[in-house]
Amino acid sequence: MLIAQVWQYCMTIGRMLLYLLCPPFCTYCREPLDVRVALCNHCMQEIQPCVAIDVALTDRRDMRVYAVGKYEGPLKKLILAKGHSERVACYYMAQLMLQHLNLQVHAIDYILYIPLHWSRYAERGYNQAEEIAYALSKQLQVPVLPLLKRVKKTSFQSSLGKDDRQGNVKDAFVYVPEIAANHMIKDKRLLIVDDLMTTGSTLVAAVKTIAPLKPQLVIAAVLARV
Ligand SMILES: [Zn+2]
Repeated sequence: MLIAQVWQYCMTIGRMLLYLLCPPFCTYCREPLDVRVALCNHCMQEIQPCVAIDVALTDRRDMRVYAVGKYEGPLKKLILAKGHSERVACYYMAQLMLQHLNLQVHAIDYILYIPLHWSRYAERGYNQAEEIAYALSKQLQVPVLPLLKRVKKTSFQSSLGKDDRQGNVKDAFVYVPEIAANHMIKDKRLLIVDDLMTTGSTLVAAVKTIAPLKPQLVIAAVLARV
């Protein structure tokens, strides 16, 4: 009992110190905030909401993609993570996805993420999609599976024309057989996460890679859509 009280006391002091040393502010307009959230109410209203869309995986099968909003204004700034720690930005992105996308209704078994090629990961030191996946996992109480691996160093999709994008990500991914074998993906419900969707070619290429494992459902969630 006493230990719990001391712990509570230390946590309160910790929070106060954090508030004093690093006061919360809106990541877009820099307005000071009372609580540590991504955006102030005014900037939240600037997000242009997106309806969910279906992208074709095959002639007969679609995948639903949920996005918080359009890739502009506050969401664009969060993805580019300028002016604040990238990992904090990822936490905020997950928070916005939880607030807007009602992901808990899909009874997801595992969360996947779009991986970076190892060389790009080494350059950046972190993968935004992976960080978002782990932040979502904590809140949704659903495990993350590092099932996908990027084996081809692709050009940035945004630097290519529409026709080149599919070719760019073709054969870019494989699944990790040991992880697939240990987790029985067949008939499972999967959520795949990325920060941004342009044409959807990357998401489609990744999900086609795991099609032989026969999941029951795959849905995708991104922060923003172009
Ligand atoms: Zn603001």
